[in-house]
Amino acid sequence: MTLLLPLLLLAGAPAADSVDLLVRGGTVYDGSGRASRRVDVGIRGDRIVFVGDAAQSRIAAGRIVEAAGLIVAPGFIDPHTHSFEGLPNLSEERRRNTGALMQGVTTVVTGADGRGPLEVARVLIEAERLGLGTNTYALTGFGSARARVMGNSSAPATPAQIDSMKALIAKAMSEGALGVGSGLFYAPQSYATTEEVIAVLKGATPYGGVYDTHQRDESSYTIGLLNSVREAIRIGRETGLTTNLGHVKALGVDVWGKADSVLLLMREARASGHQVVADQYPWTASGTGLGASLLPRWSQAGGRDSLLLRIADSATRDRILVEMRDNLRRRGGDSTLLLTGGGAAARPYVGKTLKQVAAEKGAAAVETALELIRTVGDIGVASFNMNERDIETFMKDPYVMTSSDGSGGHPRLYGTYPRKIRRYVLDKPVITMERMVRASSGQVAAVYGIPDRGEITEGAFADVIVFDPKTIREEATYVEPVKLSTGMRWVFVNGQAAVAEGVPTGVLAGKGLRKVVQEK
Ligand SMILES: [Zn+2]
Repeated sequence: MTLLLPLLLLAGAPAADSVDLLVRGGTVYDGSGRASRRVDVGIRGDRIVFVGDAAQSRIAAGRIVEAAGLIVAPGFIDPHTHSFEGLPNLSEERRRNTGALMQGVTTVVTGADGRGPLEVARVLIEAERLGLGTNTYALTGFGSARARVMGNSSAPATPAQIDSMKALIAKAMSEGALGVGSGLFYAPQSYATTEEVIAVLKGATPYGGVYDTHQRDESSYTIGLLNSVREAIRIGRETGLTTNLGHVKALGVDVWGKADSVLLLMREARASGHQVVADQYPWTASGTGLGASLLPRWSQAGGRDSLLLRIADSATRDRILVEMRDNLRRRGGDSTLLLTGGGAAARPYVGKTLKQVAAEKGAAAVETALELIRTVGDIGVASFNMNERDIETFMKDPYVMTSSDGSGGHPRLYGTYPRKIRRYVLDKPVITMERMVRASSGQVAAVYGIPDRGEITEGAFADVIVFDPKTIREEATYVEPVKLSTGMRWVFVNGQAAVAEGVPTGVLAGKGLRKVVQEK
């Protein structure tokens, strides 16, 4: 204890000789990437106050969780999510975020793909007041700023519009956003030039942080995967933000096998002094909309009404169909698009491939797709467009973290972290458990500048998970994406049990967290 005491005082936590709760005898992967250890973890209030041999240190515990045979790790931090879009105006069920907690996720970064909030302080304060199951940080959004200032316009931004967007980003950063997201793949963000994005994101430069992007092209749609990576690196470098390639992938047959080339570009950028990382979900299908996956971007300029006018014009419709045919080929053909959701009108098609629906209608695949987009709206799709080798190549890279990209209609929302553990650590194994835990906790905290979370260490917040390596797995599937994962025994968020004995407790222990900003 004599050695322990000054360390604890330095960390700002009270000395530990009694703890509220002791997680005893588990195998601890502490999030640093170091080898696992058999140690006990003591929690008092919302902090970890003891890591070591509790018996030897004569630690008294109010309550004991027996973790022999189980794995203890820091709560996972999910850097790229959609599940909290619309915050704070979400139902309590959504705010509870049980699907994430049952995967061991205790902190999420909301606002992926450029759709993050502009009123960061209001959103996070209000969300915490209403109650959150997971800690929540936010990225602000390039797309949100552009939509606020320019609507759905495909025009280049004027200098005045750039100033307005830049001011919105600066304000959001001053309120504690961790960085800025973009979704340059999606209309209308796709209409922004690289120079426009850089000029707007300079609003974030004084604050620093992460530029997280669903990049312009993960395939061969427009500028191509590698040029798109170069663009993302350039945007980060010229704005002074860390570049994060959100859900990094090689999408479609034209770019299969390019994972190594992407990683090489990242390595070269780091060697020249620019920090660039990526996150990844462990699934061969991406989740998007039928329109986003097949329609040419020019056909979407101006929004849905403009699209419908273009479809109504037979010559324009023919041009759209020609490009859709090529986009469908890129993704792997009509049997690789599984329709997964949308409104009530989409229900008859859910669980069927585009090929099946086209056969039922007796029409060609792209004509069927365009008719669905016209009459039903943008139906969600799971698009099976990645190959396993690229997924594994990305996963093994030390600069690729885990993320869920969780959204409705795809099992990644409920199953990402247990799937990665089951499939790529325990069954195959592609990476070690140390690396899995590091890529899903401590590394994310380091990249995003999240203090006091992501590692099992004295003084850190008590976001701690306990899971059973024998039973951990995802239950969600592409056909049944809304199923809680199994194997997570205990999940503590700020010291409170959000999952106890494998059952969610419903407790709302999460915080709406904002970066403490210091203008550079
Ligand atoms: Zn995305």
